[in-house]
Amino acid sequence: MTTIAHHLRLVHDRIHAACLACGRDPASVRLLAVSKTFGAEAVIEAMAAGQTAFGENYIAEGAGKIEALRGWLAAAAQGAVMPASALEWHCIGPVQSNKTRLVAGHFDWVQSVDRLKIAQRLSEQRPAELPALQVCLQVNIDGGANKSGVPPEAALALAREVAQLPRLVLRGLMAIPEPATDFVAALALHASAKDLFDRINDSDALALPMDTLSLGMTADLEAAIHAGSTMVRVGTAIFGGRG
Ligand SMILES: *Cc1c(COP(=O)(O)O)cnc(C)c1O
Repeated sequence: MTTIAHHLRLVHDRIHAACLACGRDPASVRLLAVSKTFGAEAVIEAMAAGQTAFGENYIAEGAGKIEALRGWLAAAAQGAVMPASALEWHCIGPVQSNKTRLVAGHFDWVQSVDRLKIAQRLSEQRPAELPALQVCLQVNIDGGANKSGVPPEAALALAREVAQLPRLVLRGLMAIPEPATDFVAALALHASAKDLFDRINDSDALALPMDTLSLGMTADLEAAIHAGSTMVRVGTAIFGGRG
């Protein structure tokens, strides 16, 4: 077994244990492998171990990797190894206006939408031949001054508008709380994101309920799962430190 395959197994064990500890079905939590700063070979290694969903923070780096993998998969498909659609790519980093076209043309999901203007551009620029872009709103759940994310009190109004854009599907919320000192503090932060998620879904503002709550990274995935996360985004524990 390769190192990445071994690390993936350990992360799955953590997810499984956390789910059992709080009475959740382990199948209710997806794992997003955050491959930022690592090369296409690392993605191929994770893919060989069964991982299909990958997250990238930096748009140009992510788009380059997506194209490299597409080429690699097409070549591999000559031997019928895997269909080219085998991978699902999530943009999880800040999206500036001048990058929306690159994002809309490459990624399957964008979890970092925090303004209507960016959402509108992504919808307008989503190529007609691709399925609708799946999006999460990034929420600045702890109000950090220099952080991206829509303020929690503005999230409902933004959700209502984003849900109406023709080429986007609003799937949920994503948050990156400040590192907490202990489990209880981490749980409280994640729980406030879960509370907001439930309030938006209960508000009748959306025709379709959101199904994705993207919370938890290497350091705090257990607390996030206890709070109700349906997708943990893990980089370090799979690929190693980023130096
Ligand atoms: C880098 C990053 C992650 C992964 O963090 P690790 O601590 O390496 O697991 C998850 N989400 C976002 C938004 C990130 O930028």
